[in-house]
Amino acid sequence: MIKDLITHYHNVTVTRYFLLLSLLILMFPAFAVHERGSEEVSGWQYRWGDSPFIDGMPQWISPPQNANAKWTDINSPVKPPNRDKHNTVWFKGELPDSGHQYLNPVLYITSIDLMAEVYIDSKKIYQFGNFDQKDKKSFYGWPWHSISLPADYAGKTIYFRVFSNYRDIGLWGEVKLLEQSSLLFYILKNAYFEVLVALFSLFVTIITFAFSMMQKNDHHFLYLSAFSLTSAVMLLSENQAVQFVFNYPLFRVYLLAISYYALPVIICLLLSSWSTAWQKNWLKKIAYFHSSYLIIVISLAMLGVIELAPTFPVFDALFAISIILIIGLGLSMRPLLGSDQYFVMWSFTVYGIFLLLDMGIANSVLPWINLDISIAALIFSLVLMLISLRHYSHVQKALKELNDHLEIKVSERTASLHAYAEAEQERAEQLHRLNMLGAKLEELNSQLQACHDLNEARKMLVSKLPEVFLPVEVKVIASNENEPFNLVLAQIELQEVDGSYSVFVYIMLTNASSKFLIPRENLDDLISRVKLRLGVTLSSIKLREELQRFSFEDALTGLRNRRYFDEALYRETQLSNRQQDSLSLLICDIDHFKRFNDEYGHEAGDYVLKTLAHLMHEFFRETDIPCRYGGEEFVVIMPNATLANAVDKAEALRNTIAKKSIEFNGDDLGHITISIGIANLSLHSLNSEQLLTEADKALYKAKQLGRNRVESVQL
Ligand code: GH3
Ligand code: MG
Ligand code: MG
Repeated sequence: MIKDLITHYHNVTVTRYFLLLSLLILMFPAFAVHERGSEEVSGWQYRWGDSPFIDGMPQWISPPQNANAKWTDINSPVKPPNRDKHNTVWFKGELPDSGHQYLNPVLYITSIDLMAEVYIDSKKIYQFGNFDQKDKKSFYGWPWHSISLPADYAGKTIYFRVFSNYRDIGLWGEVKLLEQSSLLFYILKNAYFEVLVALFSLFVTIITFAFSMMQKNDHHFLYLSAFSLTSAVMLLSENQAVQFVFNYPLFRVYLLAISYYALPVIICLLLSSWSTAWQKNWLKKIAYFHSSYLIIVISLAMLGVIELAPTFPVFDALFAISIILIIGLGLSMRPLLGSDQYFVMWSFTVYGIFLLLDMGIANSVLPWINLDISIAALIFSLVLMLISLRHYSHVQKALKELNDHLEIKVSERTASLHAYAEAEQERAEQLHRLNMLGAKLEELNSQLQACHDLNEARKMLVSKLPEVFLPVEVKVIASNENEPFNLVLAQIELQEVDGSYSVFVYIMLTNASSKFLIPRENLDDLISRVKLRLGVTLSSIKLREELQRFSFEDALTGLRNRRYFDEALYRETQLSNRQQDSLSLLICDIDHFKRFNDEYGHEAGDYVLKTLAHLMHEFFRETDIPCRYGGEEFVVIMPNATLANAVDKAEALRNTIAKKSIEFNGDDLGHITISIGIANLSLHSLNSEQLLTEADKALYKAKQLGRNRVESVQL
């Protein structure tokens, strides 16, 4: 266990004090060296009662009255027999005459019960207590005494007048003659170990108190601390060396009484704090009893109602019973105790035995031996110290573990918070990005709505849709282009007028890894939004285109109608004027069509109109614009065509039609002819209306000149 403690124990300061204390204990023999020889007083005799006094001089010490018959021999000047009701006794003894030379001879007495006067040669050389007030206040404490002897003491008789209303009477402990300077060392030698133990106990007090502060709910350490303190105070109040620095014997006896009487209280509280069983009540009862004794006795003694000294033997008797009870209760609690408590119990048992022995000696139940109770106190303090250290190391270890655990927890929590914050930021960025994409999509959509036709819309999507998808890198490809489709991300479809769908453009990834720049679900969301928004817009363009187509198309022939022609002629005239290009306009009119209708019916007439329209559509170049002007009149705008070109073309058309035989519902309807008026614009100062008028005039002329012919005019 000690090895464990040393291993676990990190507090260098405490270890240092511990070593210092050990060193002081080892220095103990140094004091012993200074002790010189001492001599005993011999031939002790006693005499009950008090001497008569004449002129302040006790008559019993005067040689005539000193009748041998009245003095009785005794081994030592303490507790003479047959006390009866005597409170005063006289002792006398022979001082040694060994020839030993003392510079300052002193007589050392360990303790006196309770007052004394000392005489040599009819002279009072020492007084302890006041004999005049012996009935009032007779207790002055139990200090040790150093009585200076006259230089010619050798062989003389020394008298002691002793008063005690206490159980004991006499000179207690040792009575010896020695050199005054040796006395200091003698006392120090005797007291030294106890002082060290007391200091050590104080040290243990501080440590256990510190632990008790850390463990507010557990009073165990507080009781241990109180116990060490009372042990220390007890030792110090009884210690002879303390008298050198603190010469208040009565006060020290009070301290002794308080600490000594408190001892069973604390022991019982400590043990009861470990017990939950029936022992607890018993221990508490003993504690209450002793604390009551302590409070009542000390209070009454302080008030002067009772003497303090007689309370000690009473307490001893009570405490002896309590110690036996406590040890008994402690042993019965053994199965409940932890190892720490077990050691405390064990050391208290040792301490208790020492206390019992001490009481036995003090109360003359046992013969006088110099029992060093401080050894028991030391053992007890050491046990407490070891337990405290062990506890400290456990606490430190637990704290360290807790700290490590907390650190791990904190770092985990920080990491998760950090991750959460990052995820939140990422989410916010994604949201922002999505909003941006949404905004871009809306902008593109509104631009798309402005497109005239699907071709324009397709071009716009090809060039601008990739921006909407950034940072995902895409390329938009028109569905009619032949591209590899393995990286197709999506396709925008167009709803046809009949309700079917066709792919309008493909959206392809150009950098496959860039699609991870947007979370999958966001990308999917974007794609579906793009498809929906743009799909609707494209459908509306398609519809508009269809409507436009219908509004510019002649329903019967499929050629452009008069409205379209008007716009087209205006545009082409402007263009031709600006670019100084040639422009020809043809007006074709079926000859005698009224007659044809009348002859073959209106349906056949319609058929002729359709046939002619088809022919014209095939006959002219793509840049030429054939339109049905109305009725059986057709117009053809020929941009960039010279008059000669136009005439050639017109002649060829006229010729082709004239040769074409018309068959309708299996009937041969013969041939039709057309007349054509041509106006060619090269002056570039005329407008479309003038051009039309001139072409019409040319047609009129062709009609006038017999029909089935071409007339032209150069403007
Ligand atoms: P001309 O040689 O002077 O041009 O004589 P014409 O009979 O062709 O001239 P006119 O202007 O008097 O008659 C045009 C006829 O064209 C009148 C009408 O019956 C016929 N016609 C006009 N529109 C249609 C049409 O949509 N379908 C049919 N079947 N006939 C039409
Ligand atoms: Mg006509
Ligand atoms: Mg006609």
